[in-house]
Amino acid sequence: MSHLFNPDDIDVPRGHLIAGREVAGGGDSIEVCRPSDGVKHASIPAADAAMVDRAVQAARAAFPAWKGMAPRERGRLMRRWAELVEANLEDLASVEALVSTRNVAEARVADVPGAAEWLRFYGEYADKLEGTITATSEERLSLVLREPYGVVGVITPWNFPLFLAIWKMAPAIAAGNTVVLKPSELTPFSIQRVAQLAAEAGIPPGVVNIVHGTGTGAGASLVRHPDVDFVAFTGSTSVGARIMSDAALSSIKPVSLELGGKHPQLVFADCGDLDPVATHIAWGITRNAGQICSAGSRLVVEKSIEQPLLERIANLMRKLVPGPTWSGESTLAPVISAKQLARIEQLVNATIEEGAELVCGGERIDSGGGWYYSPTILRGVRQNMTGFREEIFGPALTVQTFNSFDEGLEQAAHPMYGLSAAVFTRDINKALNAAKALRAGTVWVNRWGLTREMMTSPFGGYRQSGFGKDSGREGIEKYLHSKTVWIDHSEQAELAQGGKR
Ligand code: NAD
Repeated sequence: MSHLFNPDDIDVPRGHLIAGREVAGGGDSIEVCRPSDGVKHASIPAADAAMVDRAVQAARAAFPAWKGMAPRERGRLMRRWAELVEANLEDLASVEALVSTRNVAEARVADVPGAAEWLRFYGEYADKLEGTITATSEERLSLVLREPYGVVGVITPWNFPLFLAIWKMAPAIAAGNTVVLKPSELTPFSIQRVAQLAAEAGIPPGVVNIVHGTGTGAGASLVRHPDVDFVAFTGSTSVGARIMSDAALSSIKPVSLELGGKHPQLVFADCGDLDPVATHIAWGITRNAGQICSAGSRLVVEKSIEQPLLERIANLMRKLVPGPTWSGESTLAPVISAKQLARIEQLVNATIEEGAELVCGGERIDSGGGWYYSPTILRGVRQNMTGFREEIFGPALTVQTFNSFDEGLEQAAHPMYGLSAAVFTRDINKALNAAKALRAGTVWVNRWGLTREMMTSPFGGYRQSGFGKDSGREGIEKYLHSKTVWIDHSEQAELAQGGKR
C-alpha cells in the first residue's frame, strides 16, 4: 500500500491550549496510540482540577469582550478562521488521521473542509440572531433579548474528532459564548491544531480553550465547575447520564446531549433496484468501521428480499481492504483501540451464542499491530439478543425480517435509542407513513448518511439518544437564553389605573 503521509513525521501539540498559549503539565500524562498500527505516537498531559479551573477562568475573562463585540465582526473573524482551516487542509487532514480512525483521503474531502464550512455557516449566523417583542398593551413593551450563556464546556468523543468538536464550538462562539473543550483522550490533537488557527484569524485569546485528559478527571472537573454555564456533550448514553447528573448536582447548569444510536435500515420489498440499496446498507455499517453514532447497524428487511439483499451486501463487504488511515487504498478503517476491538468481538460472539447466524466476518483481522475487525453480518437477530440491544460501534450489521408494514415498524423500534433511521421504498405514502411513525430525530428516505448540506437542519436524538440538537437554527439557538425586559412607557396611564394592570 502506498502512503499519503508518513505517520512518524507528524508533530503534534504537547500541552493544553489556554488563553492562546500551549500550557504543559497539570497532571499525569496519557499515551496516545495510532489505531492503524498500534504504535504509541506521543503523550499529552492530563489536566487536573486546577488546570481545568485555569482554562475556565481564561474563558470567563474573555467572555465580556467577545459578547460585546459587534456580531458581524465576530462573524468576520470566524469566516477568516474557516479560510485558514482550508489553507492548512493537507496538514490538518494528516493530524486528524494520525491517531483516529479517519482515513486521510476522506479527511481531506470531508472532515477538514466540513469543519471550515461549519465555521463559515455559523459565522454567517452571528449577525442574524434576533430577539422578539411580544404582544402587550399600548403603554408597555416586552423585549425578549437572546443572550449567550457565558462559558460553554464542550466534551467530545473520538470517532470524528475534528468535526464533532467544531459542531459545537462554532455555534457556541458565534452566539457570543466562550468555550473550554475537552476532546477525547484518544484523539486530542487535530482540534487543537484548528484551535491554534483561531488566534491567527484574530479571535481573541481565551475565546477557545482546550484541556486534555480523561473523562473522569478533566471531563468531570469541567462539568462540575461552578463557572461553566452550559455543557454540550457528544458521546455514549451512559456517560451522558453521568454528565446530566453531575451538571445538575454541581450548579443546575443546562446540558445538551448527543448520545448513542441503534439505527434501523427499514427496507421494503418495493425498494426498487437492490444494488444501490445494498450499497447504502454496506456503506452505512462499514464507513469509519461502523464507528458512527448514526451507523446503520440494524437491517430490518422484508422477508421476500432478505436473501438477495444479504448476498449483495456481503459481496460488497468482502471487497473492503483493511489498512492504515494514511493509505489512500485502504477502504476499511481500524477500530479505535484494543479495548473497543475486544468489546466488538464479545458482543458479536454473545449474539451468535444466543442463536444468530453468522453470514460473513465475525473475526479480528491480523494486521501486524493495528486493530481491525472484519465486516460482519448476523442474521436471525431477535429483540432479546445482545446484538439488538447494545450499540456495537463496529462493522457489525444485525438482520431482522418482517412480512407486513406494521411488523416492519415493530421490528425497527428500539426500546432505548432514537437517533436516526432510514426507510427504503418506492411507495411515497409508505415512506411518509413510516418516517412519521419511527421514533428518531432524523429519518432518511432511500439513502443513508449525512450530507454536506446537513448543517441546514437539526440533528440529534429522541429518547436515550439525547436532546438539544446540533446543526441548523436549533444548533445555535440552544447556546442562547432569553431575558425579558419590561418597559412601561406611559406612567400616567399606569397611575390612573392604580398600578393594577
Ligand atoms: P464516551 O461517552 O466514552 O466518551 C465521550 C467523551 O466523554 C470523552 O471525551 C470522554 O473522555 C468523556 N467522558 C467520559 N466519562 C466522563 C465523565 N464522567 N465526565 C465527563 N466526561 C466524561 O464515548 P466515546 O467512546 O468517546 O464515543 C463513542 C460514543 O459516542 C458512542 O456511544 C456514540 O454513539 C456516541 N456518539 C454520538 C454522536 C451523536 O451525534 N449522537 C456522535 C458521535 C458519537
